[in-house]
Amino acid sequence: MSLSKGERERYQRHLSLSEIGAAGQEKLKAARVLVVGAGGLGSPAALYLAAAGCGTLGLLDCDRVDLSNLQRQVLFDTAVVARPKAEAARERLMGLNPEIRIVAHALELKAANVREVFAQYDLVVDGTDRLSTRYLINDACVILRLPLVSAAIHRFEGQLMTYVPQQGPCYRCVFPQAADGMVANCAEAGVLGVLPGVLGTLQATEVIKLITGVGQPLTGRLLTYDALDMRFSEFRIQRRPDCAVCGDAPTISEPRDPPAQRPAATAGVRHLSASELHQLLSAAPADAPLLIDVREVREFSFGHLEGAINIPLGQLPQRLAEIPPDAPAVFMCRSGGRSLRACQLALEAHLPAPANLEGGLLAWATEVDPALRVL
Ligand SMILES: [Zn+2]
Repeated sequence: MSLSKGERERYQRHLSLSEIGAAGQEKLKAARVLVVGAGGLGSPAALYLAAAGCGTLGLLDCDRVDLSNLQRQVLFDTAVVARPKAEAARERLMGLNPEIRIVAHALELKAANVREVFAQYDLVVDGTDRLSTRYLINDACVILRLPLVSAAIHRFEGQLMTYVPQQGPCYRCVFPQAADGMVANCAEAGVLGVLPGVLGTLQATEVIKLITGVGQPLTGRLLTYDALDMRFSEFRIQRRPDCAVCGDAPTISEPRDPPAQRPAATAGVRHLSASELHQLLSAAPADAPLLIDVREVREFSFGHLEGAINIPLGQLPQRLAEIPPDAPAVFMCRSGGRSLRACQLALEAHLPAPANLEGGLLAWATEVDPALRVL
């Protein structure tokens, strides 16, 4: 993969670095990198990887651009609000570097498609904000022997680690247990806009190092960043021989979707699938249960079920009195995690038989009504 005259000019500052030079730049040109999540982390990662001349860059995201994304997702501008992120990102990156190939995957990553998508790449960048997807990506990378650069952000803090097959621990070695739904996502908790800029740029740095073979990758180390204290810390981590996916006797040999979360703490909560709720609402509209949507106001405004009332999860403890004590309520959110927590709060307040919409409004949009708009 030799460089054209235009490329030599474009990448001049890389060619001047003896550690990279033409050989390193040619490796970058030959590399195929997938960025999962074109959000706060994926934006700077993809921008810098495109600028650096990463020859094939995939962007996977099934969401659309929302005005509230622009505070940190620097791939997008006001003109592309409401457009699919993968497509809008592709156009932005093509404008930045027409020498490279950019592939938009406007889909949700699932166990059913992860092999097919990952097979097209040599390296994966995890920029997702959903914990269950993070485990799916990790497991797929371990099983398919793909390096993975993983980062996560929360409020003012971020963390970063790199997994290289056979060379160190995986994400599951560090965080063996998935606790999806118990962790607030960005919509709920808020995040300092510049924070993913720092972590996403570090991810791009790791990718460039892995491709060109310069420096020491962040394997066997978890890097944390605290923006308030302006402090980086590093924790040594080791591969766990009992890790479920990269351990000596792995129990996970195929990427899998997370099981429905029904921990013991939810005893007493009824679980309704989207189809079951639909039947319930259609069968006897007069006796329809109270629908309580615990997403943030902005998410609710974008689209919600007819008749649902909005009590964001953070306000629920103070607003439980608004729920009639004799009416069974169905709680819902985007994917079923926050609403499960809401059910637990309702149980603790002795409200009768709260129900959780399993899979949330995303499941409703898939199973019942594709016209429902879900942020
Ligand atoms: Zn592991």
